[in-house]
Amino acid sequence: MSGAAYGEGVKLLLVEDEASMARLLLRGLSEEGHQVDVCARGEEALRQAVEIAYDVVLLDWSLPDLDGVSVLRRWREQGLGTPVLMLTARGSTGEKVTGLRAGADDYLVKPFDFDELLARLEALARRGNGGQATPSLGGVALDGRRRALVCGAREAALTAREFALASELWHHPGDVLSRSRLLSAVWGSDFEGLPNVVDVYVGYLRAKLEHLGATGVEIAAVRGIGYRLKAAAA
Ligand code: CA
Repeated sequence: MSGAAYGEGVKLLLVEDEASMARLLLRGLSEEGHQVDVCARGEEALRQAVEIAYDVVLLDWSLPDLDGVSVLRRWREQGLGTPVLMLTARGSTGEKVTGLRAGADDYLVKPFDFDELLARLEALARRGNGGQATPSLGGVALDGRRRALVCGAREAALTAREFALASELWHHPGDVLSRSRLLSAVWGSDFEGLPNVVDVYVGYLRAKLEHLGATGVEIAAVRGIGYRLKAAAA
């Protein structure tokens, strides 16, 4: 029961400040064929999980700066759907509930059995691979769990913002979406930056579509208003 059953291995982010624990898990998980990045601080983890599309995150509750639950809450507020397994030394029911309410998909109390950790994280990663893909438009699907655009056998990982913007477009194909609507859907109604951030991110998505060789969809500019997703009939 290990990485062999999972095929290519899981790409995971381990957030743990205790060096000895991090080393142990890094070694064990790597030996199972998984690809592991390690963050020791909450602030660093916040950024990294948004920038890189992980299959699953192992998140320790107790960190030196932001605690794990705060990190998790912020991820979920930003729309990050990556499955999260929380690790903690605390066993109380109240804290388990807090963790799950904050958006954890699973929970394990230290000290835990390594094989159990492995089985649970592989299950989470598999579940993530299983679904939540939107209908394919012009041959390009948006996969929520992998946070990626998928075109045939190719996929392009998206950051959380890119994903949120793509979601708006993919869920309203053909509709003209104004910049202000996209801005409030993706950056929030209290966003105080420049509206042209929308144009910048549309540029990122277009580059990824081009990289995928996706010719069936186009994010078309609607002069003076915003954007519209044009999809070729399947
Ligand atoms: Ca810790």
